[in-house]
Amino acid sequence: MSDLKQVNVEYFTIPGTEVKIPAVGYGTGTKAQWSKKGREESIRHTLHLPLAEDVALAIKRGFRHIDTAETYTTHIEVAHGIKLADVPRDQLFITDKFSPGFKSKARNIVVKAHTSGPYESIKVALKELETEYIDLYLIHSQFFHDELTGNLSITDAWKQLERAQKEGLVRNIGLSNFDKENISEILKIAEIKPKVLQIEFHPYLPNQSEGIIEFAKQNDILVEAYGPLTPLFRAKEGPLAQVLPKLTEKYGKTEGQILLRSVYEQGILPLTTSSNEQRIDDALDIFSFKLDKEDLDLIKKTGSEFKFRGFFKTFDGEE
Ligand code: NDP
Repeated sequence: MSDLKQVNVEYFTIPGTEVKIPAVGYGTGTKAQWSKKGREESIRHTLHLPLAEDVALAIKRGFRHIDTAETYTTHIEVAHGIKLADVPRDQLFITDKFSPGFKSKARNIVVKAHTSGPYESIKVALKELETEYIDLYLIHSQFFHDELTGNLSITDAWKQLERAQKEGLVRNIGLSNFDKENISEILKIAEIKPKVLQIEFHPYLPNQSEGIIEFAKQNDILVEAYGPLTPLFRAKEGPLAQVLPKLTEKYGKTEGQILLRSVYEQGILPLTTSSNEQRIDDALDIFSFKLDKEDLDLIKKTGSEFKFRGFFKTFDGEE
């Protein structure tokens, strides 16, 4: 374990628990490849191990929080990356997600749910991830369609997550890409309430759906941000391009670090990723400085002048 770098990463506490979650996570969805032929084919197709090497590198440089999902077909690479990094399981925080299926016009694919529901998916995931438990398990989206998901309702899916938590297969449960109406449906029937919500979040999309951040706060739900670096490459044309270079000079940090820090300072947990060692180190080094209030306000205000959504473009289930 001698090549493990020691870094100072802050933690959030999962609301209503004493569970600590590293306050920046390493994603494995960004470089996933989807096959039109389906999951088995995707797994064979993606079992190239660069992603496992990326995961191993991220862990060696200090990441302890890894984000994966059934639909990414990256479980096997994550398991392999963890073995390569040789870090004890109890030092890692692994998030996984049940996919109700999705359609992507852009990628010309339709992916159906891989199993009859989350409970079965969790059993498969534990084998693929070569672990006895998953730290956080989410329902990947609220877009359940009979032709993709089968005859499964959102509330039945939630009951299956609760069962898995009671049996110790998963330790915490939550949601991803849900709006306040659908979260409210779950809150009505929940014995165990959702503790985490993973959504797209960056200055150009401060609310993936109307009032979602405020609603999450009111309901004691920790928000995780995917796409936090969107202004740097998905929406380079946005007005922050004029603002970030000045802030990098002032703080001596990269534009990526400023953006990740701005998410963290709003009480939101950024999920990012990189194959580049310097960028991995940068993402972990966002806890050694603080943005002045006026600069955080400037990022938010400048962001609010431009709109960009990278995922679930119309937020109707079409990715
Ligand atoms: P980011 O917005 O942080 O983007 C990461 C990408 O940015 C990487 O491909 C990286 O490439 C690139 N990058 C890093 N620094 C820079 C820079 N300075 N300039 C230009 N490009 C840069 O996160 P993602 O949107 O990729 O999401 C992170 C994770 O969140 C995913 O991997 C996934 O696990 C999760 N996610 C969840 C979704 C959901 O529906 N729940 C949807 C989308 C993502 P490089 O390797 O070259 O550094």
